[in-house]
Amino acid sequence: MIWNKQEQLYEGKAKKVFATQDPQVVIVSYKDDATAFDGTKKGTIQGKGAINNQMSNHLMSQLEQAGVPTHLVEELNERETAVKRVSIVPLEVIVRNRSAGSFSKRYGVEEGIVFDAPTVEFSYKNDDLHDPLINDYHAVALKLATWDEIDTIKNYAFQVNDFLKHTLAQCGVILVDFKLEFGKLADGTIVLADEISPDTCRFWDSETGEKLDKDRFRRDLGNVEGAYQEMSRRLLGK
Ligand code: UDP
Repeated sequence: MIWNKQEQLYEGKAKKVFATQDPQVVIVSYKDDATAFDGTKKGTIQGKGAINNQMSNHLMSQLEQAGVPTHLVEELNERETAVKRVSIVPLEVIVRNRSAGSFSKRYGVEEGIVFDAPTVEFSYKNDDLHDPLINDYHAVALKLATWDEIDTIKNYAFQVNDFLKHTLAQCGVILVDFKLEFGKLADGTIVLADEISPDTCRFWDSETGEKLDKDRFRRDLGNVEGAYQEMSRRLLGK
């Protein structure tokens, strides 16, 4: 299929979205731009757009086969992909296997505590409010999603965790935590959207504990590009 890139619909922090000739399909174009801390820290990670695009597509096509519906239609080139047009459910869905980041800060615990079972939490996607933590009752009260949709989203999120944890373990990587976004198709079907990449996950080397994700950028740890390239080598073999 040939997807004609038409007008730009949206530009976010890490991606641009373009219309196509099909109203149900859009093209996402991944940028090398990086932001952190609510957009206050800005930078560029050379090669990130191409790596995130290809890694996310690789993982989503496998998830699709494992029974998790996704927005993926077709990879177009190294940094662009045709995806189903969705309306994004305004919840960031965070799954954790170990303590880190905002969890450690909020509860005053060290990073790396291994949980007996994964946890799930939601943040309300709202830039003006700085994406506050929200519980499912409040999400339903605000009509951000229905109970059925929240149930579906949680089930998919844990399925994604099981798959990702296993896949990464085979590459010598610990999956600490990650963020997912879901979208709704015109008929109401919930599908996994956005991306799965070192921008949205915490990856630690199984042997050394070395961070192989965006924390290298957030925390000025150096060798940011190298971490993205290493994850690309391990997962995509390139
Ligand atoms: N995350 C993300 N986007 C956000 C917030 C978090 O992709 O806007 C990811 C982050 O990379 C990590 C996980 O979600 O893998 C959990 O992040 P956390 O809540 O600990 O927040 P952070 O420490 O990144 O502020």
